Amino acid sequence: MNTIQIIVQKSGSNIENILSIDVEDWYCDLNHGTWKFLEDRIVQNTEHILKILKRKNIGATFFVLGYFADKHPELIKEIVENNHEIGSHGYNHVAITQQTPNQFKEDVVRSFVVLEKITGEKVWGYRAPFFTLVENTAWAIDVLKSLGLRYDSSIFPFKIYKYGVPDAPLFPYHISSKNIKKNSPNEKFLEIPLSVYQIPIIRKNIPIAGGFYLRFFPSQFISYGIRQINKTRNPAILYTHPWEFDPNHPRINSIVWYNYYRLSSTEKKFEKLLSKFKFTSIRNWLENEER
Ligand SMILES: [Zn+2]
Repeated sequence: MNTIQIIVQKSGSNIENILSIDVEDWYCDLNHGTWKFLEDRIVQNTEHILKILKRKNIGATFFVLGYFADKHPELIKEIVENNHEIGSHGYNHVAITQQTPNQFKEDVVRSFVVLEKITGEKVWGYRAPFFTLVENTAWAIDVLKSLGLRYDSSIFPFKIYKYGVPDAPLFPYHISSKNIKKNSPNEKFLEIPLSVYQIPIIRKNIPIAGGFYLRFFPSQFISYGIRQINKTRNPAILYTHPWEFDPNHPRINSIVWYNYYRLSSTEKKFEKLLSKFKFTSIRNWLENEER
């Protein structure tokens, strides 16, 4: 056994987990009309994440908001040059629950057009703003399929006021709009759900996928959850945002408190996870699965 194998065994798993970054600025949960009055910090914060990933030699999926691709095309090029995958986070950061199917289609197509123009490549995947792919918006799956996408990564198997499908499958599965809560083996389209740790016996799900939960829970707990997922030979699916690496971004009362909670802990905890576990983009993970 060589040194590399020993290191992999010590870290608990050789499973490749999935890392995703939702590329939006600190004010994107606010009404769109206010955005132009607020300080833009997305370039510096995204570049900061790119530097960390480069140092760790880790690839990720960047779900980019079309609005920022139009505003900062050079930033999207930089992400691609660093060999990361570009997915879509929609154009204007409107929850699917607040859109009709036609409005949704218009918003996502607008994002694909700008992203594909910059990258020269077809977008494979989508992540809904506020994880709002829920039972009422299951029709969105058919829209994404009709536009040639291969996967969605928006379902959170945990109930919180704006989002969540608490009894959805916990690991990547084939999804159909007829029933988003079960694996449909005949469907090609995939769902890559955000990770939760399920407490055995009582089967209660606790989110460990990143974002606020990464800042809230001790990193030992997040690592424990990832190890439990990896024991089932499945990847953990994590997410973060560029603004979570920026404790000094402006404070505004209309932004919910948890967006500011322990921002100074993000980077340290993030780096810890990247050192302990293997991560890759969704596209790489899918290509490895298909091999
Ligand atoms: Zn978002």
